[in-house]
Amino acid sequence: MRKLIVGNWKMNGSLLSNADLLRALRTGLPAEPAADVAVCVPFPYLAQVQGACAGGPIAWGAQDVSAHEAGAYTGEVSASMLRDFGCRYVIVGHSERRQYHGETDDVVARKAQRALAAGITPIVCVGETQAQRDQGDTEFIVKRQLAAVIHVVGHCVSEIVVAYEPVWAIGTGRTATPEQAQAVHAVLRAQLRAAVPNERRVRILYGGSMNAGNAAALLAQPDIDGGLIGGASLKADEFLRIIAAAD
Ligand code: PEP
Repeated sequence: MRKLIVGNWKMNGSLLSNADLLRALRTGLPAEPAADVAVCVPFPYLAQVQGACAGGPIAWGAQDVSAHEAGAYTGEVSASMLRDFGCRYVIVGHSERRQYHGETDDVVARKAQRALAAGITPIVCVGETQAQRDQGDTEFIVKRQLAAVIHVVGHCVSEIVVAYEPVWAIGTGRTATPEQAQAVHAVLRAQLRAAVPNERRVRILYGGSMNAGNAAALLAQPDIDGGLIGGASLKADEFLRIIAAAD
């Protein structure tokens, strides 16, 4: 399966710095990159990224989407609006949304459903906190989070991307070891296999302090199909090296 490398810019960027970053990525990427590549950017910059990346090898997407279709939901952005800006992907259930915005498994699942209905691939994030890992609950937590999505989207789960992001590894510089990550990816792969016949279509990304130094070892694991990259996706050189490591 072709690997997928996605940058999550989080709440970073400006028109000026984005233009520099996108220019450097476009220039630095080979005509046929070793992996599929995407950047998930803040809503106000979708038009800029669409303008800069249309027709090239870099796909783009958003970092959240409303669980509602349309209407009186002030501040929310719908899946059809994302489609208007050419989004191929949207991140749902990032741990920062679960933690700071109280998103439950059910809300995350309904967001994934909205994205799918609009023809956008949801990148569904799952992952345990340090306390949950310490209690031996990692498997239970990630399976519960993924099960909620399977329950709501049914056989369409074959159209999603999953991102395993241990919360203790996000933005901390503490990466899961390749063995730790692979063990959880294997659990998620087995869960998908039990849910849909064509589960091999589903890519399972690893996220959590992935960088140019550790990417190759993580991406070499049999069930790691790509990466969701936060901090390191803001530096063109680092992000390009991660993409190259996916070969
Ligand atoms: C993320 O925000 O999805 C992420 C993986 O962040 P970082 O790479 O900075 O740990």
